[in-house]
Amino acid sequence: MMTNAFATVAAELEPLPSQHFVHGGWRQSASGQAIETFDPGRAEPHARFAAGTAEDVAEAVSSARQAQHGEWGRATPAERGRVLMRAAELIRENIERLAVAEVLDSGKTLTEARGDVRGSARAFEYYAGAADKHEGKAYPLGPNYTSYSIEEPVGVTAHIVPWNYPLSTTCRSIAPALAAGCTAVVKPAEQTPMTALLLAEILVLAGLPDGACNVVTGTGIAAGAPLVSHPDIRHVTFTGSTVTGINVMKAAAQNIASVTLELGGKSPNIVLADADIDLALDNVVGAIFENAGQICSAGSRLVIERSIHAQFIERLVERARRLRIGHGLTEGVNFGAISSAEHLGKVASYVEGAKARGLEIVTGGKVTVDPATGKGWFFEPTIVDGADWDDPIVQEEIFGPVLAVQVVDGVEQAIAAANCTQYALVAGLFTRDLAKAHRIARDVDAGQVFVNEYFAGGIETPFGGNRRSGIGREKGLLALSAYTRTKTVTLRI
Ligand code: NAD
Repeated sequence: MMTNAFATVAAELEPLPSQHFVHGGWRQSASGQAIETFDPGRAEPHARFAAGTAEDVAEAVSSARQAQHGEWGRATPAERGRVLMRAAELIRENIERLAVAEVLDSGKTLTEARGDVRGSARAFEYYAGAADKHEGKAYPLGPNYTSYSIEEPVGVTAHIVPWNYPLSTTCRSIAPALAAGCTAVVKPAEQTPMTALLLAEILVLAGLPDGACNVVTGTGIAAGAPLVSHPDIRHVTFTGSTVTGINVMKAAAQNIASVTLELGGKSPNIVLADADIDLALDNVVGAIFENAGQICSAGSRLVIERSIHAQFIERLVERARRLRIGHGLTEGVNFGAISSAEHLGKVASYVEGAKARGLEIVTGGKVTVDPATGKGWFFEPTIVDGADWDDPIVQEEIFGPVLAVQVVDGVEQAIAAANCTQYALVAGLFTRDLAKAHRIARDVDAGQVFVNEYFAGGIETPFGGNRRSGIGREKGLLALSAYTRTKTVTLRI
């Protein structure tokens, strides 16, 4: 029951941080101002955090610079790896504290939050192993020369994090940055600041030197913008909306700083008539309704062959209606809240628009509350059928539990439907035909294609988008290249 869960919360969480984390310790905001963070499952504030400004950012960047030129910059790759491995262990040891804080800030379910914490530990474990394996090269100039290159850290890096996967997005970018020998300043989303702060403290306990990872909380305008435009930042990793990503890229360009942008998506989930239908149903539900659809790589469009359309939708609706809505700490709940009142309004307005245009809402379609308390920001799992391909419900990222259905005839039309938006992040595909699978994987425009398992992959597999879905790749060994630059040394001997 939720009441018991909240008793656990009090025991697990006290005290939650309320200040920035700079140079290995808690720092009051220069402005003295604080912001409330809300528990979306109750639509009530649950904590306060520091409202950062350019002054706090300047202090954090200066601390990161010191660590870069100091202890962390001088650590051997093997020493860096050991710190990251210890961090992975400590993240696992703190799973309940981190997961509950994540539920309260973000509205997701405890099961999802625990999965995010495990994934975060795994990111540190993976890059711990990579720290001493990012090798340079030697070049064949003949007997009179020795020429080699080294991969040196780029320097101080900025990490701008969104509210949908606060901890795991932070970890998947700072773990490779630290492994590469960079230092970091993190700006979490103003809706979900807590787990980044808890993480920064854990990293110091793991042996990370003061200043190697700093966290400044606050709004995008007051704290995020001064961070990404700071002249000492050499790389910015940003995850969030395409519109903000464009601004971040422009700001970084002023300092010739590099960027990794993980932006929006409107990813198709293609189900061909020969697919294992039960497998496809499970995956289509998970792809759009996990985290209440607030996932950049959500499978928010179902592209389905006409011959199986009616029967598939009927069974999909049954599964969508079986999802249990409620506060993320309530036992048995598997469908959490929408992150903020503002975002709930945005999701609702997309569906109202679809209704006004006469589209068929086959299930869901309404704002709702936690049935146990009558509170919270929730939106029913929703499926919209019959939209034209140029309809906003098909074209625009809603970032909520709303699935748009596109009916197609054959593989060529499925590929055309998959490629019909400005986004190109992920494509899911369900088929038993290997030739069709490879053909679609070849012709679909996406950073990753998942065949017969949506969200397949892990920290080992590079992840990122094309076109308006982003630039650069996170995860995998490839991510290290964002945080290193090549120095070539050539000697005449
Ligand atoms: P956003 O892109 O504005 O915010 C993401 C992060 O960027 C936050 O930490 C925010 O404080 C920061 N930020 C905002 N303006 C900034 C600036 N000028 N300079 C530096 N940092 C800045 O996203 P949002 O307003 O929270 O959500 C809007 C939409 O973005 C959502 O509806 C959804 O479509 C999309 N979104 C996508 C992802 C994703 O994973 N791709 C995540 C969250 C939101």
